[in-house]
Amino acid sequence: MKCPLLQRYLIEGENKALEVFDDCLKEECAWWEGAGKRCAVLSLSRQLWLLVGDASMPAEKIAAAGK
Ligand code: SF4
Repeated sequence: MKCPLLQRYLIEGENKALEVFDDCLKEECAWWEGAGKRCAVLSLSRQLWLLVGDASMPAEKIAAAGK
């Protein structure tokens, strides 16, 4: 898995740069959740997407889901 926070650029010549994401550090990273064996940063972003999805849900669907 690539880490969204471990981004760097490889400079090639004067006008070109290659964007690179390094591999997840897992247990060596402070954001790694050992119990769930997952990245807290990525888990948080998924949770936020779920919240945004729920917030944009029409009121009728929310009411129907609650029944
Ligand atoms: S656990 Fe750390 S290294 Fe791995 S993806 Fe998350 S932030 Fe990046």
